[in-house]
Amino acid sequence: MVQNQVKSPSFHDVSYHEMSVVSTTEFFNSNLERGLTAEEVAIRYETYGWNELPVKPGKPAWLRFLLQFHQPLLYILLVAGAVKAFLGSWTNASVIWGVTFINATIGYIQEAKAEGAIASLAKAVTTETIVVREGQALRIPSRDLVPGDIVLLASGDKVPADLRLLKTRNLQVDESALTGESVPVEKSIQALLQDTTLAERINMSYAGSFVTFGQGTGIVVATANATEVGKISQSMERRVSLSTPLTRKFEKFSRTLLYVIFTLATLTFAIGLGQGESWIYMFEAAVALAVSAIPEGLPAVVTITLAIGVNRMARRNAIIRKLPAVEALGSATVICSDKTGTLTENQMTVQAIYSGGQHYQVSGSGYSPKGDIQGSFEGRLDSVLEECLIAGVLCNDSQLKQTGDNWSVVGDPTEGALITAAAKAGFNQFELGASKPRLDSIPFESQYQYMATLNDVYPRKIYVKGSVESLLSRCSEMMNREGQPIALEKSQIEQAVQVMTEKGLRVLAFAYKVVNSHQHSIDHEDIETGLVFLGLQGMIDPPRPEAIAAVHACQSAGINVKMITGDHVLTARSIAQRMGIKKGEQVLAFEGRELANIGEHKLSQAVEDGDVFARVAPAQKLQLVEALQSKGEIVAMTGDGVNDAPALKQADIGIAMGKGGTEVAREAADMLLTDDNFASIEAAVEEGRTVYQNLRKAIAFLLPVNGGESMTILISALLARDLPILSLQVLWLNMINSLTMTVPLAFEPKSNGLMQHPPRNPKEPLITGKLLRRISIVSLFNWILIFGIFEWAKSVTGDIAVARTMAIQALVAARIIYLLSISQLGISLFNYITRKSRSITNAPILIVGIIGAVVLQIIFSQSHLMNLLFETAPLNLNQWLICLIPMVPMLPLAIFVNSLDRP
Ligand code: ADP
Ligand code: MG
Repeated sequence: MVQNQVKSPSFHDVSYHEMSVVSTTEFFNSNLERGLTAEEVAIRYETYGWNELPVKPGKPAWLRFLLQFHQPLLYILLVAGAVKAFLGSWTNASVIWGVTFINATIGYIQEAKAEGAIASLAKAVTTETIVVREGQALRIPSRDLVPGDIVLLASGDKVPADLRLLKTRNLQVDESALTGESVPVEKSIQALLQDTTLAERINMSYAGSFVTFGQGTGIVVATANATEVGKISQSMERRVSLSTPLTRKFEKFSRTLLYVIFTLATLTFAIGLGQGESWIYMFEAAVALAVSAIPEGLPAVVTITLAIGVNRMARRNAIIRKLPAVEALGSATVICSDKTGTLTENQMTVQAIYSGGQHYQVSGSGYSPKGDIQGSFEGRLDSVLEECLIAGVLCNDSQLKQTGDNWSVVGDPTEGALITAAAKAGFNQFELGASKPRLDSIPFESQYQYMATLNDVYPRKIYVKGSVESLLSRCSEMMNREGQPIALEKSQIEQAVQVMTEKGLRVLAFAYKVVNSHQHSIDHEDIETGLVFLGLQGMIDPPRPEAIAAVHACQSAGINVKMITGDHVLTARSIAQRMGIKKGEQVLAFEGRELANIGEHKLSQAVEDGDVFARVAPAQKLQLVEALQSKGEIVAMTGDGVNDAPALKQADIGIAMGKGGTEVAREAADMLLTDDNFASIEAAVEEGRTVYQNLRKAIAFLLPVNGGESMTILISALLARDLPILSLQVLWLNMINSLTMTVPLAFEPKSNGLMQHPPRNPKEPLITGKLLRRISIVSLFNWILIFGIFEWAKSVTGDIAVARTMAIQALVAARIIYLLSISQLGISLFNYITRKSRSITNAPILIVGIIGAVVLQIIFSQSHLMNLLFETAPLNLNQWLICLIPMVPMLPLAIFVNSLDRP
């Protein structure tokens, strides 16, 4: 990696806040308009390196490995090993230690892998910034910035490096990460006194803060380690936490289990001693009991399953930023989604125009300028129609791009559509821009719903475009067909709006205002009143076909889909109707302002019942989430704007857009959609449910063996009979055998009915009554099996090692059948045999797991070394065959427990 530390002494320790805009720019040999040259960037890059903080090394590997032993269970094992060693059974002791060592190694490797996978996913999402270089505004990864670069800031951006501000417009920055001050700071550019404290340097903007409002231009004065955050932390925390509510539940569960086991073991030990048993026998029994009862493989399986879920989601375009979201997704009951771009294609085409009292149709599709405007004009366009189209082009921050026959938008699709519409009437964006140059502008912000530009035309004019509601209230006149301002006829316009919105068109209104010819800049106050209405343009934005399918899939999975949008209520309703977003017969739609003052109780009812929420102000999203949560819902909410962050944080699953959307939203979100598509949310829910189901499978598979083993040891010890399995052998079963057979369950594909049943109740305990019943039944079977085979083989062969070995092999044989009965593979095989289906699940990992387990079991009894280590004995063919017998009764038993409840 390139060294970040190298600093040129000349840029060091200069108080840029003291310097003027001009001298700062000169100091860095840069230029406000043109930025740096490519050569200069290359040279500075050599000196300063990447603009990124090095990753904190985290805990050293040896410590993380040691921490694998930091579990109560492993303490018991280590102590047991020590006691054995003390008693002189060195083989015993080394096997115990060896197995714990293997277990810790596996735990260490898979934990590191899971963390690495999640961390690299998070890293794959790069922060970008807009920089001016060689006179061009470019979007580049923030890590490519060098000192002297000119950076453009807009609301929602993350400040990429330390900047001295050169230009600001209502720029407000949230610097809480650096100063702890939660109120955004208003910025300006005047030079300040030398002793101004960091928090008061309003002409600077520091890396890591967020632009919450307005715009600005700044020059990079420090990158990477030289930035203020870099100086404080020197490095970035990039370790991900693998802890989730579920893993914490598991921890709690195993702790409780441990106490129970400990008490039982102590009791057994005491009772045995009281009955006159030797204390060595009773110690062996107590240790075996403790070891047998605890599902050692479980924590590993939980982490693996979660990590696999995260990977699968990433493959389906959903990047998890916070691990607990994986679980929450599985129990989501409501998804609140943006309309524009998430449910719809964000491929806008103007189809209808209304101006001067006339309706026009626009032909053509996409952003190509092929097509024309059809309506009642003779030869040339009415001047009001021309003005309306021109307003759409001038009051616009986007551009069209042509590659071959393909036209696309650089910027906002809504704006691209307006350029295309004007092009169909022969207007060229660049010619218009050159003949009517822009002097100033107010960019579009969701909360204002409009954009305005001041253009140098005669007479000097402000052009405004925005939602009908925001513009009409500011208009007092409208332009007629001849281009004369006449009194505004509101109802006529509203009728035209209704015609367009009911077709599902997204409608934008256009207006202008003549201003004094000396005016050079504009502000929100300038367009409060006195606008002249020009017309409306209505554009289609078709629903994404895959999103329609995904909405249906959610609904049949008992998940409510709600549309949240800033758009017009009729447009939103029409799209919702087409996509089937409705609980009842009709789409129930609410407007943001209706919800604003209906009171808390009615609000939560409305939010619960409503399908569409239109003209919603960003701040209202938070209210929506809270209202739904107060009804006990688990809420997934999308958001992309600056002001969506609180709602995203409050939601159980906050979802931000990877393509569109702001850095602020991304930072607040639990999950990112790389394709901004609703269908990916549905996919993530599916994967979330699969994760949970696979965990339940793992529990249903593991616990009955622990149950069977501990019953065996407890009963045999209390009956003062020979133990059918020794603690070492239990260790083998629970650690080696269980892991090979359980890990494949983490890779299980989703089951067929997964999205046909309602979401899991989040309050449902990990081990439900039904699951407990299944575990008890199979545990009982396992006890009978172990105890029966052992006692029988002991009486027949008289060889206790052979009897023990047979009991273990028989248990594993039955276990294979049980594993199949839980897995998709077994279920599909069963359905195939009973002719209920014709396909067999492809489960290579499961088959590898089973074959691996069989091979290990053969070695376990047939190899001389294993015989020594684990006190097993080689079996002859007859004995092997006998061990297979328990597979037969296991089959009907498995079918029976499956009929009670499928995990
Ligand atoms: P949405 O994209 O869901 O419609 P927004 O908050 O982005 O919500 O937009 C709200 C409204 O503002 C839109 O319905 C439209 O009328 C108007 N609008 C959207 N984009 C622009 C823009 N670039 N310039 C002016 N007005 C816009
Ligand atoms: Mg929008």
